[in-house]
Amino acid sequence: MRLLLFGAPGVGKGTQAKLLSAKFNIPHISTGDILRQAVKDETDLGKKAQEIMSRGDLVPDDIMMGIIKYRFSKSDCNAGFILDGFPRTTNQAVELDKLLNEMNINDIKLINIFADEEEIVKRLNSRRACKECGHIFTLAEIKNSKSCPDCKAKDSFYLREDDKEEVIRKRMEVFRKSTEPVLNYYKKQEKVISINGLGSVEEVNIELLKFLGK
Ligand SMILES: [Zn+2]
Repeated sequence: MRLLLFGAPGVGKGTQAKLLSAKFNIPHISTGDILRQAVKDETDLGKKAQEIMSRGDLVPDDIMMGIIKYRFSKSDCNAGFILDGFPRTTNQAVELDKLLNEMNINDIKLINIFADEEEIVKRLNSRRACKECGHIFTLAEIKNSKSCPDCKAKDSFYLREDDKEEVIRKRMEVFRKSTEPVLNYYKKQEKVISINGLGSVEEVNIELLKFLGK
């Protein structure tokens, strides 16, 4: 099973990726993670990427493709993979198609997890993080409690910058503008499975598995 995971910030994409990865025993490949790993391992591509990022520039597609290709070549990808956070542009989608063709892979699906913007804002805006242990809770989980259920720290809850309404809306807008063409690219190829990201983690997961025919 080879999946591309796609969705707006806050739809719970990462959580679903982890569940699918565990269920099908295929790696969850986050492009952010493999990029950091390449830099840490000081591979040729990692060194180039590091140099570019240190100038404050974005890592160009050809380097990113090289890093993805290297990751795909590892044996744990033989049975499949879940690629998370890529492609983000049509050009990247075209380049990814070329790579997959080279590898004789033609069974990819793009999972599009969507949700109503107002619901996402409401959901993220009602999360609180513990500044001591970093765990994230919903207001419903902590109710009126003043201490962290995990580390017992007192008065340690705060609203993270990323969970603030204006920040979420800005990220959603960027997402909408830049990713719509990517979605259309895969829709034309009839490779898109759209899943409503509202509901609990379990509900969304059940829905996903149904669409995957599992
Ligand atoms: Zn805590």
